[in-house]
Amino acid sequence: MAGKNLKCMACGSKVAAELQNLFDTRFGIDNVWNICRCVDCGMEQTCPLPSPGELKKLYEEYYNFGGEKGTRYTRLRERFLTSSLYRIWLGMDGDVSFHKKQGSGRLLDIGCNEGRGLKIYQRNGFEAEGLEPNEKASAVACEHGFKVHTEPLEQFKPARPYDVCVLSNVLEHSLDPKQMLSHVRRILKPGGQIWVSCPNSQSRLRFLFGRYWINWHVPFHITHFSEKTLRYVLEDSGFAIERTKNITPGLWVAHSILSFLFARPGSVNRCLRSPLLVASLMLVIRFVFFPILWLGNLSGRGDCLVVVGKKSADYADYTD
Ligand SMILES: [Zn+2]
Repeated sequence: MAGKNLKCMACGSKVAAELQNLFDTRFGIDNVWNICRCVDCGMEQTCPLPSPGELKKLYEEYYNFGGEKGTRYTRLRERFLTSSLYRIWLGMDGDVSFHKKQGSGRLLDIGCNEGRGLKIYQRNGFEAEGLEPNEKASAVACEHGFKVHTEPLEQFKPARPYDVCVLSNVLEHSLDPKQMLSHVRRILKPGGQIWVSCPNSQSRLRFLFGRYWINWHVPFHITHFSEKTLRYVLEDSGFAIERTKNITPGLWVAHSILSFLFARPGSVNRCLRSPLLVASLMLVIRFVFFPILWLGNLSGRGDCLVVVGKKSADYADYTD
């Protein structure tokens, strides 16, 4: 892996190694990475950084966007996501993708993949569009009748600004999160909202599972935000925080357990793709361990950070 990230992506200070020799516990990419921590602001990031070219190749090889269509599994998933059972599940397990939020106005789902979220946002009252540079994934979303933009965010110039931009488990994938946020600010209306969710690097599960915590997700997760560092980069990028919340989805706990039990360096962890195993674990976690997860969320040690921010009026935007 080329490139060194000796500086913090949030504040520019020095970083020091925090956790060493992490491996990819999902796809079996044969390499190791470290997690470094900023000596000033505490932001954590993956070291060394993959270059943009390396990252593009890794996504093409390991993320099979649009590869699975019309199978029994995809039909079942589709029916589940549009059912009232899904809304009940979100009520119990937590909504890390803003699928329960009702409203109106123009919404852009950044990194919309195959557009599963777009259908839900549209049903909830929004005029939903997507931004997805992966053309295979965006083609699937377009087949369902959605407008999906494929240019990179930094080159994207919408005809009209948006009321809401959604970054659901996306910001941590960016090689430059502050630049990403400045472009989100650019395409929002005055007072427009940003909805962000991402893993919480100070979660209890991070300390419980150590290097097997599923949300290290090296090398695809570049930055590892805590509530404090996420707040810092959002405020520094011209957003005022309106609400923050912690959620611990059963799926993420199940994946950390399966990572701890079955991940081996250089091997694909097939257990993560076993719907029966994952669903059974999720149900046990949700119904047996809910008091522990609930307390973790209340104390700010949940696995996912969910933040709603608003474009600040008193902020000097960069001009080209
Ligand atoms: Zn820093």
